[in-house]
Amino acid sequence: MHSVRVHDKNFELYLPESQILARVQAMAEQINADYQGEDVLLLPILNGAYIFAADLIRSLEFQPSLQFVKISTYGDSMTSSRQVRDSFGLNKLKVKDRHVLIIEDIIDTGFTSGYLRAYLTQQAPASVKVATCLYKPDAFKGKTKPEYVGFEIPDFFVIGYGLDYAQKGRELRGIYKPEEKNE
Ligand code: 5GP
Ligand code: MG
Repeated sequence: MHSVRVHDKNFELYLPESQILARVQAMAEQINADYQGEDVLLLPILNGAYIFAADLIRSLEFQPSLQFVKISTYGDSMTSSRQVRDSFGLNKLKVKDRHVLIIEDIIDTGFTSGYLRAYLTQQAPASVKVATCLYKPDAFKGKTKPEYVGFEIPDFFVIGYGLDYAQKGRELRGIYKPEEKNE
């Protein structure tokens, strides 16, 4: 089993690159079918969604607009927290009457994407949906579930494919989970 050490923890391979890319392709096909001929604004959430967004966008068969946004929340590195500390990119957005697709790396409690959904909805877009590479249904506390999900996963902390552990591990091609025995 392929494993890596990041900071103080050992992680083992959970989803190999080939499996992720096949699933992203299938998600893109669904999105292509749903948004054909529409004016679509893609909003990947930095930092984590940048790799997923890059793969997804290159399999789209329409011409979306793209604006990265960032929403930072308070909290430590391995838990999601519930307070928006900082954001950028949000006030520039022109979303009225447009179809907006938020792109997330992972949806845990759903706080981040829920905040953005609520923020955008006030500005009368044609629609707002969420596409996420990973989704933890057991941790989700939001109102609206993500419309496009790559993989549903149990409630453990994953890294790789853009996702970090205290800013390390984003470059890993696969997605990794903590090893059972960690020391
Ligand atoms: P939520 O707001 O849905 O609770 O969490 C969303 C954000 O928390 C994600 O965009 C991600 O930055 C971070 N996050 C949640 N779960 C994980 C995880 O398992 N691994 C990593 N690296 N980040 C996570
Ligand atoms: Mg994130």
